[in-house]
Amino acid sequence: MVPKKIAVIGSGFSGLSAAAYLSQKGYAVDVYEKNETFGGRARQFEEGGFVFDMGPSWYWMPEVIEKFYNDFGYTTSDFYDLKRLSPGFKMVFNNKEELIVPDSYDDLKSLFESVEKGSSKQLDIFMKDAKAKYDISFTNLIEHPGISIMEYANFETVSNAIKLNIFSSYEKLVQKHFKNEKLRSLMEFPVLFLGAMPKDTPSLYSLMNYAGLKLGTWYPMGGFYSVVKAMKKICEDQGVNFHSNSTVSKIDIKYNEAINLQVDSKIKVIDGVVGSADYHHIESKLLDEEYRNYNEKYWSKKTFAPSSLIFYLGVDKKLPNLEHHTLFFDTDFSIHADEIYKDKKWPNDPLFYVCAPSKTDDSVSPKGCENLFILIPLATGLEDNESLREGLFDKVIKRVEKYINEPLSSHIIFKKSFCVNDFTNDYNAYGGNAYGLANTLNQTAILKPKIINRKIDNLVYTGQLTVPGPGVPPSIISGKIAANILNEKIK
Ligand SMILES: Cc1cc2nc3c(=O)[nH]c(=O)nc-3n(C[C@H](O)[C@H](O)[C@H](O)COP(=O)(O)OP(=O)(O)OC[C@H]3O[C@@H](n4cnc5c(N)ncnc54)[C@H](O)[C@@H]3O)c2cc1C
Repeated sequence: MVPKKIAVIGSGFSGLSAAAYLSQKGYAVDVYEKNETFGGRARQFEEGGFVFDMGPSWYWMPEVIEKFYNDFGYTTSDFYDLKRLSPGFKMVFNNKEELIVPDSYDDLKSLFESVEKGSSKQLDIFMKDAKAKYDISFTNLIEHPGISIMEYANFETVSNAIKLNIFSSYEKLVQKHFKNEKLRSLMEFPVLFLGAMPKDTPSLYSLMNYAGLKLGTWYPMGGFYSVVKAMKKICEDQGVNFHSNSTVSKIDIKYNEAINLQVDSKIKVIDGVVGSADYHHIESKLLDEEYRNYNEKYWSKKTFAPSSLIFYLGVDKKLPNLEHHTLFFDTDFSIHADEIYKDKKWPNDPLFYVCAPSKTDDSVSPKGCENLFILIPLATGLEDNESLREGLFDKVIKRVEKYINEPLSSHIIFKKSFCVNDFTNDYNAYGGNAYGLANTLNQTAILKPKIINRKIDNLVYTGQLTVPGPGVPPSIISGKIAANILNEKIK
């Protein structure tokens, strides 16, 4: 029998995951990617001996990625060496105060106790609850397609949700356990960087504290792109065909059965589509209005996770005082948060994050040099130009120089920036978003954009704008959910 043909639009983690699972089920799968290289927001580029991961750098929840490999008969070490970072990361506060977050939980408790008396006990209580949330998410919630409330209507899920109060405010949960502002910032940073204000985020997401602080912060040697390479190899083993520089410009429905897919100037007749490019782009640019799930008004009311201004820097010397991950919380976050979520303007003195993978991995920079990735969260939809980018660059570099107490700007031998316009142009991202939709209460589970197209049976969506949400592990799970649904519908 001739296998049915599936097209996957986009080669990010969700597209790679969906392609692998569909191919494993016996479909003939083609992945069409508009860019020259694969991996979507996790692409990598090389310049002058520096190897830059363009997006993700925090490897959390390694067991989700391991599970994906296991489903195809592999294990993580078949592809790369996965290192647990020690320390996990560092946070820098005003007046050079800092928290160096150790990888051992016992050391973390000692750190908490040294900052606030009694807080190590509170950390135990917080983590017990966070682990329970992590466990119910992975056993009862995360693999649901989020199509109907009935998916969650079993006794165990409902009773756990009530017991753990998963919809209460994340901010209140943190405040209940910790008084010290630095400890509060440490507990709140994972939700800040991936989406919304702690006050608008359900306490369910304390599962991320459990993931980051207890299960550890990891690094795949060779860079995060090692994960893309591994997933692509798995796809190719399964028989998936990859097409780069291949922009899909139209999904044309023929009597709700065959689909004509326009890829550049060619028409491909296929049996099913996985839309893993940004959801809004697929709906508004590739589908006729009658086939869309949502209109522009719907999207304009959604709360998007921030966009980002990123600098990829090659530095001709080693820099002291920076860890692999260093978070600069040395200015007032409430002002920056208003600039992102309320006023939607360029921040004046933002928090930012510095990743220096060359602290762990010699292969990402020339000898004696440092590879830096600086990320500043910004509102989506902002005007973006060189002078705005440069204005912030000068400010953050001065803050890094002050902190490390050494000149930096005169040692930068490579520099490239990436911001709102690049997210829009390179990924067709709505408003130039970096991480999709914010994890707010009214954008969780069944309240996220639906993974199925309600009008076309053989079209499903996947990726960070639908279930389960933004981040590498959720995107991989999203691809699996989409593959299963499409398989059920087509077969
Ligand atoms: C700067 C940054 C830092 C991040 N840091 C972390 C982190 O540390 N840890 C973590 O877990 N997560 C992180 N994330 C989030 C994570 O990277 C994303 O959630 C995930 O990669 C999204 O995958 P995706 O498949 O949904 O989308 P994408 O990776 O965007 O893939 C979609 C693909 O579709 C392609 N496409 C678009 N339109 C078309 C078209 N018409 N035709 C063909 N192809 C098309 C795009 O080019 C793109 O390759 C980060 C994201 C960013 C941007």
